[in-house]
This record gives sequence, C-alpha cells and structure tokens, in this order.
Amino acid sequence: LAQFYNPLLQKEVKKTLKLLRSKTRFLITSHIGIDGDGLASELALARALKKMGKKVQVLNDSGTPHAYQFLPDAQKIERFGQVSPAPREVTVILDAGKFERIGSLKDVVSLRRDTVINIDHHRSNKGFGTVSLIDPLISSAGELLFEFFKWAKIEIDKTTALLLYVAILTDTGRFTYDNTTARTHRNIGELLEYGIRPELVANEIYRRVTHGQVELLKHALATLTYTEDGRIAHITLLRKDFDQTGTSGLETQEFVEIPRSIDGVRVGIYFRETLEKGTVKVSMRSNGGIDLNRFARRFGGGGHRSAAGITLQTKIEEAKRKIIASLAQDISRI
Ligand code: AMP
Ligand code: MN
Ligand code: MN
Repeated sequence: LAQFYNPLLQKEVKKTLKLLRSKTRFLITSHIGIDGDGLASELALARALKKMGKKVQVLNDSGTPHAYQFLPDAQKIERFGQVSPAPREVTVILDAGKFERIGSLKDVVSLRRDTVINIDHHRSNKGFGTVSLIDPLISSAGELLFEFFKWAKIEIDKTTALLLYVAILTDTGRFTYDNTTARTHRNIGELLEYGIRPELVANEIYRRVTHGQVELLKHALATLTYTEDGRIAHITLLRKDFDQTGTSGLETQEFVEIPRSIDGVRVGIYFRETLEKGTVKVSMRSNGGIDLNRFARRFGGGGHRSAAGITLQTKIEEAKRKIIASLAQDISRI
C-alpha cells in the first residue's frame, strides 16, 4: 500500500486495517446528540464491513434525527436501551472526541477489556482507543473514512459515496466552515463522480424542516440577546419550548448558526435545557479570534477551534451567567 495522505497516521491506518480485516464481529457507535457526520460515517463503515463479509451492529445512545432518516440503512440503526449490544470482537467509535461522548453505551463498552478503534477529527481528542485514528485537520470523520477507504482499496459504491458526501457536507456547514479545504473539495469532487445529486441530498437534509421546528425557531428568535457590544449573541431554548412544539434538541443542530451569523458577532451561543433534568447543553461557534475548543475544555467540554460544545449540570440561568462572564473576559482581550 502507498503512503496514507497523512504520514503521521501511517501506523494507525495499518493497525486499523489489520483489525478490520482479521476480525469478524463489529459494534459501531458514535456520540450523543448524533449528527450527520456521526450517522453517515457509521453507515458508510457498516456498509464497507458488511461487503467484506463481516457481522456489524450499529448501536447509538441517540435516536436518528428526522433530517437523516433518508440515509440508506438508517432504519437498521439500533438504539441502546431498546436493544443490547451483540457479542463482538471490535468496537468502532466514530466522531467522538472523548470516550464519555458515547453516552449510555459506556455501560457496555470498556476501554480496558475491549478492542476499540477510535476514528475522529476533534482537536480535543487525546486518543482513547486501542487504536486511535485521529486527524484534527480533516473536516469530518466521514472525510477521514473516505481517505482511509481509498488508501486501503476498500470498495466504495454509490451508496457509500452518498453517505460520505453527507458526512462532509453537514460537518463543513455545507462547505462554509474553516475546516473546508481544497482537499475537501477535491474529495467531494470524487464523491460526486459516483452520481450523487447535491440538490436531492439538500432537499432531504435542509428542505424538509418540520412545522414544529419552525415554531421552535420563533421561540429561539424571541430570546436572541446581545452582550459585549454585540460581540456575543445568544439564544436559549427551555424544555417547555420543545414540549410545546413537539420537537427535540436533535432537531436544532443548526440553530447556533443564527446568533453566529449576525454582523459584528464574534461568538454565537445556543443554550438549551436537555431532557435530563438539570442538564444544559451549550453550543458555541466563533468567527475567529477565540479558540472555542480551549474555552470549552475549561468547562469539561471540547470540539474544534471554531465549533465547540459544553454540557453542564446546572440550572440554565446559572450556566448562562458562568459561560457568558467567562467568555466576556476572553473577548475583552482580543
Ligand atoms: P455542537 O455544538 O453540539 O454542534 O458541537 C460542536 C462541536 O463540539 C462538535 O464537534 C462536538 O462533537 C463537540 N462537542 C459538543 N459537545 C461537547 C462536549 N460536551 N464535550 C466535548 N465535545 C463536545
Ligand atoms: Mn459530530
Ligand atoms: Mn464530525
């Protein structure tokens, strides 16, 4: 085999390929609050492994958001709690920056006893797997998988190409975030050659917003608040907002783009109460100048330089006060 595109990962790709080839039963999972990259990467890897004659179970803590239910084989994804993990030799964790991000699956996956392959692209990832294939410079777990499949000469068909396209499309914010590179576009060009129709994919993911989601958006916009001379903008959604509109937090993954996209805003924040009582999810996006991965790590969260998340066990007002006060200090220095 030729050299992997990232020479620093040469050993890891070899180890990964060896495990995938030599073992037969796999469990694949991803992070809580699963997104397009997590889901599509899981399905792409599951498909590749099945074509190699392997037994594969895809099992998640979260359900699949409405926008991704069209993905091929999405209906076969199982949910932990309703289904238990089958016996397996290898667990593959995709798109999770730290082990705890697999949520309730950590009750059945053990880093000490199990063989775990961690394929990821988060800057905050310290490499928790038996094998950790991590490139913080690539756009998405899906793009890393694409490079890996090409390097390993693992067959990619039109369906796999669609899945990898969706992973990259969604994690780059439709090719607009700072993780979008010339290489990303070349990879996307190769994926399009399989016959992917971008407008049809976008119809599924971005043009089937539910009425509940639009109602929820009204609630979110009503909370829009600016601080630090308009350099921070934030929105907030409470459990009652989700209850009233029949929606869930999983359906609001792009809401943080609203405060982030306003003229003059350096950091956009979206606070929401989760289903778990007393837990607040904070989504943050920066337009440069602030390293949000570093910021989030102070509060036990993480992610990337311009997109990070934090989960706090506090009342929402307390979470907002703490995060905004701390961020205001950082912002005053730039
Ligand atoms: P989100 O705001 O949920 O879209 O997350 C932005 C980025 O930060 C994603 O790449 C997440 O995987 C990561 N992230 C979100 N929440 C956390 C968390 N609690 N701990 C570590 N990383 C997170
Ligand atoms: Mn993700
Ligand atoms: Mn990702």
